Amino acid sequence: MTFRARHLLGIEPLHPTEITELLDTAQHYAELNRQGRAPRDVLAGLTQINMFFENSTRTQASFEIAGKRLGADVMNMAMQASSVKKGETLIDTALTLNAMRPDLLVVRHPNSGAVDLLAQKVNCSVLNAGDGRHEHPTQALLDALTIRRAKGRLHRLSIAICGDIAHSRVARSNIMLLGKMENRIRLIAPPTLMPSGVAEFGVEVFDDMEEGLRDVDVVMMLRLQKERMDGGFIPSEREYFHRYGLDAAKLAHAKPDAIVMHPGPMNRGVEIDGTIADDINRSVIQEQVEMGVAVRMAAMDLLARNARAARQETGVMA
Ligand code: ASP
Repeated sequence: MTFRARHLLGIEPLHPTEITELLDTAQHYAELNRQGRAPRDVLAGLTQINMFFENSTRTQASFEIAGKRLGADVMNMAMQASSVKKGETLIDTALTLNAMRPDLLVVRHPNSGAVDLLAQKVNCSVLNAGDGRHEHPTQALLDALTIRRAKGRLHRLSIAICGDIAHSRVARSNIMLLGKMENRIRLIAPPTLMPSGVAEFGVEVFDDMEEGLRDVDVVMMLRLQKERMDGGFIPSEREYFHRYGLDAAKLAHAKPDAIVMHPGPMNRGVEIDGTIADDINRSVIQEQVEMGVAVRMAAMDLLARNARAARQETGVMA
């Protein structure tokens, strides 16, 4: 099964072979990027619009660079989360943009499901750049590529995802992707930050870091998503760091060659000790950012190919 979809809305509908195809294409772009040989004609003549209704540093910059490297005309719409609160307004925005005939629409939105809804209303390909607590597919793909490059494989690894799992779309997309690729997933969080219904995910659950990290190959840390918390989920940041923050003593329980990941933005001294984040022998955080560009190039390349093929099939001039 090859990746023939029109949109990239989440990891959930993807088959493992589609994930592998996306990762192989991204791997190819990662090499070309390092050699400074990215092909400028892949998205030439196509218009990419980035619509971020929620703040972003890495993801927005990464999608913009990815599009430009492949020759797309990229436009960033300045959106304020506060200006679009109603579904109706979102749809109106989508219809307006649709009338400008973009080819690729990259959307981040604070509401889970908003990007899927928008995708139903437009004719172009939509890429989900994070919707509420729901999904962040390109983050999971870039994490997978980073793991595959560091460990030489993406199956039968023991992977710990730690911290604010309840509010994290990164955790959700990663649990799905890494599960589909047959890895062993451990979730480590205080009970207040563990999502309900976690048993359905087919994962092991821990509330103690030392126990949960024992012999894992990969340690994935998550930010405390305060903007999605509406009450006291943790006693204090200090106490949280003491119990759940990744420091050298806790990391010593993982395998000696375990890698440390974080999707960013990082809160040093809250979920991760700065010295661990900066330790080039353990941390692959910068590599994650680098792979982000390659993964987004791959996703947009494949979606543009699919759109071209669909147009040819329906007899419309490409
Ligand atoms: N940057 C990631 C996201 O947009 C993770 C985070 O914000 O903590 O979900």
